[in-house]
Amino acid sequence: MISLRAGMVSDTGRVRAINQDSLLVLEHLAVVADGMGGHRGGEVASQVAVDSMAEAWMGSSAEGLVENVRTANRRVIERADAEPELRGMGTTLVAVGLVGNADGPPTVAVANVGDSRVYLLVDDGLEQLTVDHSLVEGLVRSGRITRDEALVHPQRSIVTRALGIDTSVDVDLLERPARVGDRFLLCSDGLSNEVPQSLMASILQRFAEPAEAAAELVRVANKRGGRDNITCIVADLVVEADDAEARASAVVPDAAGFEAAGPDTIEYSLVDGPRDEIPDDEDDPARSGPFGRALGTAQASTDEYQPPRLTWRSLAFTGALLVVALVAIGGTGWYARSGWFVGVHGDQVALFQGRPGGVLWIDPTVERTSRIHYNDLTPDEQERVADEQEFSSREEAEDFLDSLCDTDDRCDP
Ligand code: MG
Repeated sequence: MISLRAGMVSDTGRVRAINQDSLLVLEHLAVVADGMGGHRGGEVASQVAVDSMAEAWMGSSAEGLVENVRTANRRVIERADAEPELRGMGTTLVAVGLVGNADGPPTVAVANVGDSRVYLLVDDGLEQLTVDHSLVEGLVRSGRITRDEALVHPQRSIVTRALGIDTSVDVDLLERPARVGDRFLLCSDGLSNEVPQSLMASILQRFAEPAEAAAELVRVANKRGGRDNITCIVADLVVEADDAEARASAVVPDAAGFEAAGPDTIEYSLVDGPRDEIPDDEDDPARSGPFGRALGTAQASTDEYQPPRLTWRSLAFTGALLVVALVAIGGTGWYARSGWFVGVHGDQVALFQGRPGGVLWIDPTVERTSRIHYNDLTPDEQERVADEQEFSSREEAEDFLDSLCDTDDRCDP
């Protein structure tokens, strides 16, 4: 029999206060859910969905997996009906299940609702098995924007299908033969929006251990901005071991186990571990989507309003504050634009001005796209490019980019 050998990480990222993603790994089932909705709604929705999947999983058939997703949908709706402050919450869900009975060959069933993704690692990169149910995917398919434009579209987080919205839900299902050695990646959009597909593929090829690959994916996503919660499961199909040894790798890596030290180092935590208690009342408008479930409300003060008294002291103080603020803004802008680095743009190696991941509202800009395809680099070079090493001048960054060309003829037209 074949089973899953998985490594997983769920991380809050560098911007959000709480983690609204949830994940689940069983012997024959892996699930990622990305919740949405203010006032705890998102984290509750994704957790209810994965709990329901764990409870309902029988592993008998692909249709059974789809039925499990429909049950999870009803559970999310029931919970929202029971707790009015959670009304309008929803979640995406992707599931990879090993199904099949003793007579037939085992099959991998992939179920999807929303914009979380399932990829399969193939010889020349990653094959995306799921189709996003998102606004930008619709725009790409109708030819109104390109794939590259979708990556930076301001409304790229808006989903057009989710659990928790309607009692009936369309679930995409894909089936393929289960082959030992196949490697699947399940992830929330906090990974796929942050890390180019070619870079994800090279990380999956570089790390044999699923747990290490998952940790590296999350580290790189954080390094590139970490603007959303990041969750991924790397799942290998292996021959089932009689003892528990093979399954022992399905652990959450400890941050200390990886050498990725430095100021960007993040703490890896399993999503169903102790949760961050910081309330996140800020609903993300980008994720409220066409369902209009923006729940965040500003708390109006009931104290009587007292107009401030204007004195020369308060004017001088305000002036000084203004000067400090202007200097800070100018300094931030200068810092954000003064760096140079070589990274990946689409599938190609490119020269960027700015800081990797951006600084506050200032994103790095592509200054020159080379003819070098990221996949053509040696593993060493891929690692250097993926790390987005910074240079203090354009010349130094250009020299490094040119040195990648010099090693063979891959830059020739
Ligand atoms: Mg997300």
